[in-house]
Amino acid sequence: MENSAALRTWLDEMNLDHPLVIAGPCSAETEEQVLKIAHELKDSDVNYYRAGIWKPRTRPGNFEGVGSIGLKWLQKVKEETGLKTATEVANRNHVELALEHDVDLLWIGARSTVSPFIVQEIADALEGTDKIVLVKNPVNPDLSLWLGGIERLYKKNIKKLGVIHRGFSTYEKTKYRNIPEWQLAIELQNKFPDLPLVCDPSHITGKRDMIFDVSQAALDLNYDGLMIETHFDPDNAWSDAAQQVTPTALKGIMRDLKIRKETNEEAEYKSKLSNLRAQIDVIDNGLVENMGKRMKIADEIGQLKKRKNVAVLQSQRWNEILGKMILEGEEKGLSEEFILRIFKAIHQESINHQEKIINA
Ligand code: PEP
Ligand code: MN
Repeated sequence: MENSAALRTWLDEMNLDHPLVIAGPCSAETEEQVLKIAHELKDSDVNYYRAGIWKPRTRPGNFEGVGSIGLKWLQKVKEETGLKTATEVANRNHVELALEHDVDLLWIGARSTVSPFIVQEIADALEGTDKIVLVKNPVNPDLSLWLGGIERLYKKNIKKLGVIHRGFSTYEKTKYRNIPEWQLAIELQNKFPDLPLVCDPSHITGKRDMIFDVSQAALDLNYDGLMIETHFDPDNAWSDAAQQVTPTALKGIMRDLKIRKETNEEAEYKSKLSNLRAQIDVIDNGLVENMGKRMKIADEIGQLKKRKNVAVLQSQRWNEILGKMILEGEEKGLSEEFILRIFKAIHQESINHQEKIINA
């Protein structure tokens, strides 16, 4: 992508005095719903109206989208409100239908970006298009896979490109639905400084009350835009209910976000800090999760002890554990005093659990 400066001309030509905003429901549900939300977003910073027409669901049986009828509703949105439109495409058929219905911006979803076959099929179907195409990060934190998606499109002479950071899947439960890897997106930006970078705080957080903070973090890292799921009745949305905001809330978010122009050095510092904090969050969640598991096992031991009628406290076993942990701790650079304090607290909690069981 030698001439990558061409990549962002579509965005520069928009001459926006605010971040690019893509907003609208997770899914198109009914014609009335699509049009009502669009009308409520008409006089706002929203540049592109999004609605999922085909929904990739993790498990079958959930709402899988209204299909191509929804594209007619998006055409109506454009006629009635003047908003440009955006939807996700995941195969050749989707691309052909979206182009037929003149959707202005297409994006490749996280579950498609992981598959080079799918991305190639989409790129082939889009060859030479002057539509804007955005590539969401793959669900796994693999920068090459993400870049590969962009390169496949670029090779097919698709020049109005950009990426969307929507966070990454983790096995551990965290406060995020999909954990942001700010450093990865920064690396991508370093490689292709002209590639517009959009953040999708809805899919990162999974919760509407965290959307503002993640949006602000993205803007502080010089992101070019935001994609935020918006619905007039979020709680009753047919998909992703917990993470959608109302049009009024969206306008509030856009009003309150601070747009700071930062140097690369500041942005890099913040990205590193955010990344490290995200790692700490994962570990803290794991600690609590593991404590919960440990106490469940202690409960089972309590049941056994009750049946056998033995005492809760068995100091020999406890001293063995403590000795082992002090040695382990030493290897990891943890002081004996710290290990003692932590394990005494854990042990006390176990005893409390078991006493409750034995005395029940
Ligand atoms: C979406 O934007 O509604 C969507 C399904 O996103 P993702 O591909 O990020 O899961
Ligand atoms: Mn969604």
